[in-house]
Amino acid sequence: MSQGSVNSTNSKVRCSCGRIAVVRTVRNGSNAGTKFYGCPMWPNTSCQLFVPIDDNNVVEDLQLKLLERDTTIAELEMIQKFNEDKIKELEKEKKSLVDEVETLKTKMWQQKLSSIKQYTNQKNMSMALFIALIVVVVIFMGK
Ligand SMILES: [Zn+2]
Repeated sequence: MSQGSVNSTNSKVRCSCGRIAVVRTVRNGSNAGTKFYGCPMWPNTSCQLFVPIDDNNVVEDLQLKLLERDTTIAELEMIQKFNEDKIKELEKEKKSLVDEVETLKTKMWQQKLSSIKQYTNQKNMSMALFIALIVVVVIFMGK
């Protein structure tokens, strides 16, 4: 009897000829009804693959598949969480950028306002000086 190699990752049994084994059922004899992995080419082959399928193996396979699925889900959840974190980070960054722009705008306005105020002050000052000069001149001329 040739031994099929059992690949635990995809739980596929391969025949010694390299083909993926198929599930067959014993038809005759005392083992009738037993499921086993056999060569897909049988009976037109010299391969004699016969790997009885143990119910425990099937359960293990299912558990393994379940575990793989859980792992995939966990990975997907991790990716999703990572993406959510990234989005949050980007939103935070965006908010701080918007805040920065607002701050800059406010600063620019304040600068503008203060320069206008300065300009107005200078204007007022020169106006005041001009008026004072006129007053002085008028007083001087009036004498
Ligand atoms: Zn074969």
